[in-house]
Amino acid sequence: MPKIKTNRTRYPKDFNVVEEKLMEFEQEMREVTDETADKRKGEANWPVMQIHHKRTRYIFELYKERKISPELYKFLVNEKYADPTLIAKWKKRGYEKLCCVQCIQPREHTYGTTCICRVPKSQLEESKIIQCNACGCRGCSSSDTK
Ligand SMILES: [Zn+2]
Ligand SMILES: [Zn+2]
Repeated sequence: MPKIKTNRTRYPKDFNVVEEKLMEFEQEMREVTDETADKRKGEANWPVMQIHHKRTRYIFELYKERKISPELYKFLVNEKYADPTLIAKWKKRGYEKLCCVQCIQPREHTYGTTCICRVPKSQLEESKIIQCNACGCRGCSSSDTK
């Protein structure tokens, strides 16, 4: 897990733009990992995945809106505050809202070749429960409004 401000790292000039928010995420992350320390797998991991997603999204949005410098963006990716694999997917059409990379990994999914949360709601029966096994996502198809 990335650490906030240590002496050995040099911080980009505009790090203060994101510092406070990153501390919040860090705190949130600590709370959920404390809670789930005894159970490691499956659902216990969802909150961690969700925070991971939120933090990556936050950084990506700032970068897109040019609110942070490319230097800071690169730094945050290198320091693992943001997940470059996820961001690379978000840049592709149809994946703008992808919840986690596990969802599009070709493997056994409950709904064909992709995770059920990737299937547009309009293509599913209404009663069907949508929930991704990896992160608990309830639907991240680009055609769904959320
Ligand atoms: Zn999803
Ligand atoms: Zn997922």
